[in-house]
Amino acid sequence: MKKTSFRKCPICENQDVEVLHRQHFVLPQGHPLSAGYDVVICPECDFIYADSPPAQQDYDAFYASFSKYEDKGTSTGGGISYWDVRRLEQTAEYLTRVWTDRTKSIIDVGCANGGLLHQLRKLGYENLCGIDPSARCVENTKATGVSAVVGSLFHLPDNIASFDRVILSHVLEHVADLQGAIRSLSLRMATDGEIYIELPDASRYADTIFSPFQEFNTEHINHFSAITCANLMKSHGFVLSEQGEHLIESSPDKPYPVIYSLWLKDSYFKQAANLQRDGELQSKINAYIADSQEMLNVIERNLANILQCHSKIILWGTGQLMMKLLTDPALGNAGIVAFVDGNPINQGKYFGKIPVRTPEEIRCYDSPILITTLLHQQEISETIRQMGLSNDVLLLL
Ligand SMILES: [Zn+2]
Repeated sequence: MKKTSFRKCPICENQDVEVLHRQHFVLPQGHPLSAGYDVVICPECDFIYADSPPAQQDYDAFYASFSKYEDKGTSTGGGISYWDVRRLEQTAEYLTRVWTDRTKSIIDVGCANGGLLHQLRKLGYENLCGIDPSARCVENTKATGVSAVVGSLFHLPDNIASFDRVILSHVLEHVADLQGAIRSLSLRMATDGEIYIELPDASRYADTIFSPFQEFNTEHINHFSAITCANLMKSHGFVLSEQGEHLIESSPDKPYPVIYSLWLKDSYFKQAANLQRDGELQSKINAYIADSQEMLNVIERNLANILQCHSKIILWGTGQLMMKLLTDPALGNAGIVAFVDGNPINQGKYFGKIPVRTPEEIRCYDSPILITTLLHQQEISETIRQMGLSNDVLLLL
């Protein structure tokens, strides 16, 4: 289906797009982002993105106050869990090969809890600064011994003369105004400035589906391939130095395909390069949609059976999958006694009139617990066992 998008194509500004999928969520009260959007493809440049009505300032507000990355125990990017540390070590080692001058300034925009900067510091880099919209993340970064300030791509700190090296690791997929973001960075970069970019690889989403439509979540609103990332950077006068792909772990034992690239600022840049087409991306995303839908159908059948047997239920896990499942009337109208989440940023929020409780707070309930995440199903089962809870534990798959 064709339509005129709310959000212009973030790369070429075209608004006549093709809808690939409609995604809905039930959000907790006060959540500033959209409860649904179309995933669309731009027929002019093959970029795939969420046609999400919220503007950049809504996303800024979200990452300032709703940041799940604040909790070092459950988020990624902080370098606390063994799998996250390993990922950050590998990225830092790569950067030591390409950024050999350890005196140049390195700015990590969207630094979360400063995990990558901490690794770079251990490798002898001194001129480091983290930027993050969340004040808590900035404090957590400073606690690792690395300087950090509250800010974003659109509010860069004034006290750094110019940026020699910039890290954008798992950031651009979250940004509504991509043109504004790269323009803003480019203006602040040194003449020989370089940017390292790491992103989820949309052309390989279908290869590793652990949870249906996981990539079509409230936060990931841009779905890049190596080609469409290059279109964005080249249109702002950046020259590709090198690029590659690998698998990281974004949750335990779950490989996650990413693309990375290194860009040099072209000081003589005059006009945008022609956009390169990515003719294979649409069919790869369509395969991801079809496979996700098949998995979701199985989950919804299981859910219907569970709800037939249990009139009251506790839902543990209030992440992306739960927010999708709640749009299913079978679950939306079920006898939900409580929501539970281990991440403090989610605790105390409300879905309808039902609060999200801490694991300790549900000791007084004897209803069965349905674990409503696939990515963290195993860790939550283990937590329930360690807490000695005697509730029946039910799984989606
Ligand atoms: Zn476009």
